[in-house]
Amino acid sequence: MSHDTATPGDVATFYDRIAHSAEDIMGNNLHMGYWSGPDAPTTVEDAADRMTDLLTSELGVADGQRVLDVGCGTGRPAVRLAQARDVYVVGVTISRVQVDLASARATAAGLADRVGFQCADAMRLPFRDSSFDAALAIESLLHMPDRLTVLREIARVLRPGGHLVLSDPVLRSPDITDEKREVLADYYDLLKVVHIPPIDVYPKLIRDSGFRLDMLRDVGEHTDRYKLGPRGWSLLAEGLRHSGTLTSEKYGMTPAEQDTFLARLKRLEKLPDQGYLLVAAHKV
Ligand code: SAH
Repeated sequence: MSHDTATPGDVATFYDRIAHSAEDIMGNNLHMGYWSGPDAPTTVEDAADRMTDLLTSELGVADGQRVLDVGCGTGRPAVRLAQARDVYVVGVTISRVQVDLASARATAAGLADRVGFQCADAMRLPFRDSSFDAALAIESLLHMPDRLTVLREIARVLRPGGHLVLSDPVLRSPDITDEKREVLADYYDLLKVVHIPPIDVYPKLIRDSGFRLDMLRDVGEHTDRYKLGPRGWSLLAEGLRHSGTLTSEKYGMTPAEQDTFLARLKRLEKLPDQGYLLVAAHKV
């Protein structure tokens, strides 16, 4: 099976379409949770917030500083950061629907004066050079055409010494079977992912984009995927079927469409072994 590579336009359409259902299905965070161990008693939402906290604790920002959130989703991480710290946050997402949901979230939290959202392509950020003190990119680079271009663009809008913190799923081994390669291609198509890189590209990528690496950590074993194991995808598919969410009037899938979609989702348990990288760096 081969698929066309997702463009930013495809990604925008995808997130516009799932913006509301993702809130119902995944909670408000569109990223993995961090679990201290396989039996840690935590809800998915708490674990996802814990991942946000783990990442933002590396930002090194002081009161009054400006943080850019690249690929901000529906704004829960940005709002959470502004609740914890007295900073300004600007989030960008390629999805207009997400901008509206995120803006409403900031207003509801009483933070509209310090947290704002814009629809923009991270490959061409609409900001001046050196206009931010720190930048965050939580599980967003995987949808973008080219990591080097985006990281250079982030470096451009950061002031020298400004911190970058990101999380990115990676492949742990470049040697994968044809079957796994096909499942990976279907995963790209289903979730509008452009590329999951091998784990070892990061040190050079960070260097080549104008940063110095401060931390590189594969926390794959602490994420949802390992807590649930590969069966997590089947559990998600079964849960969706039993809840009737996708065939409800709100989401409007026909039973046949749901069957096809859930079969593809279940097959993702055959994905190649993935790590989950946390990266911290600062602009040279
Ligand atoms: N960081 C958020 C959302 C992660 S989902 C969270 O943790 O909750 C991926 C996000 O990346 C979405 O908001 C999507 O719109 C954004 N994104 C993908 N490609 C983009 C691009 N080219 N420019 C800007 N945002 C993009």
